[in-house]
Amino acid sequence: MILEKYSFGLGDRFAHQGRAQLQALIEAKKLGVNITPVWNKSHREHTIISTAPAGVRKEADEAVKALKWKELYHVDADHISLKNVDLFIEASDFFTLDVADFTGKPADETAINAFVKKHKNYAGSLEIAGIAKTFNITEEQIRIIAKKFLLAVSEAGKIYRHIESAKGKDNFITEVSMDETDSPQTPIEMFFILAAIADEGIPAQTIAPKFTGRFNKGVDYVGEVAQFAKEFEEDLAVIAFAVKQFGLPASLKLSVHSGSDKFSIYGSINKAIKKFNAGVHIKTAGTTWLEELIGLALAGGDGLAIAKQIYVKALSRFDELCGPYATVIDINKSWLPSPKAVSRWDNDEYADSLRHNQSCGSYNPDFRQLLHVGYKIAAEMGKDYTSALEKYAETIARNVTENIYQRHIKPIFIA
Ligand SMILES: [Zn+2]
Repeated sequence: MILEKYSFGLGDRFAHQGRAQLQALIEAKKLGVNITPVWNKSHREHTIISTAPAGVRKEADEAVKALKWKELYHVDADHISLKNVDLFIEASDFFTLDVADFTGKPADETAINAFVKKHKNYAGSLEIAGIAKTFNITEEQIRIIAKKFLLAVSEAGKIYRHIESAKGKDNFITEVSMDETDSPQTPIEMFFILAAIADEGIPAQTIAPKFTGRFNKGVDYVGEVAQFAKEFEEDLAVIAFAVKQFGLPASLKLSVHSGSDKFSIYGSINKAIKKFNAGVHIKTAGTTWLEELIGLALAGGDGLAIAKQIYVKALSRFDELCGPYATVIDINKSWLPSPKAVSRWDNDEYADSLRHNQSCGSYNPDFRQLLHVGYKIAAEMGKDYTSALEKYAETIARNVTENIYQRHIKPIFIA
């Protein structure tokens, strides 16, 4: 199973927006840009809102059928490990093996020695097409990289073989993710990680490194855009080189776990994939849920009331909701509006405060981040929430599609 050149990860917490999401890719297709939709949901998300992977499969199948989508699409078991992979085997055909917890923990000495021995031919000066500078690599450096990443890659191998034994070779797409770690990986680290992935026999088609800068949930990139652009291009060059050197799948490409809405780096990604004629997979998760809130607010009446109620409850349970996301949110509590202030807001004031439009004076990134992690509140409302989604489906769908198409698809793949 080959993942196409451009693919886009769609998260949908409450499984009501599959069609509205797919519509954004249909818009791209009308312009001749083919992007494969990949519905993704992590174990963490399933746990927080008590859903199961089968629900994601059902949503994807139904959306594809309803909109007569004839192209490929996938269902991604996002950030899974050996502990929970079994829950996803049946429903998924794309697996994101998360081995971040194993990085930095050294593998055994024999494995490290064998790796160094096998790859020490890369020590010395190394030139990679597409990168101006020459890398000077030492055997010691290869050893340090092996110590840092070999255990993680061998864990990925265990998860991969587990899935392969259940689903059969070539019946699914494999991603290796290391994005949820403390420090970004350098292009040279990436090169040797790919060597290890090939040694393990993992036919990885996407790799998600941790990039430089902060990728907070639901808000824009924080960091040096020029530095990101440089590393991103170097990563593309390294991948193209590693595919040839190690016989990895020709479809191997970068996966950007964006945490949604990294608008300021989209231009660099667009430029780089065109320059290198490379593919890319972009994962977004939570902003569709925020578009649901925007749609409810704009609908007014009980829709707006529900949107307000969710914020007020989220504020009262701040620590509990932010806890699981502590490393990927930066909320300044003093800028959060009081329940009293929000109670006076009209439709537009709520929508404008939440919508990710940085040129709008009312936009409040702290309000947005808290709601981004507040989906548990809506999950607890159960039918009250999902009935509102159905009642105001049209307004919500318009916002969901527009968000994905205008703010993501266009700047990354088209503009
Ligand atoms: Zn991720």
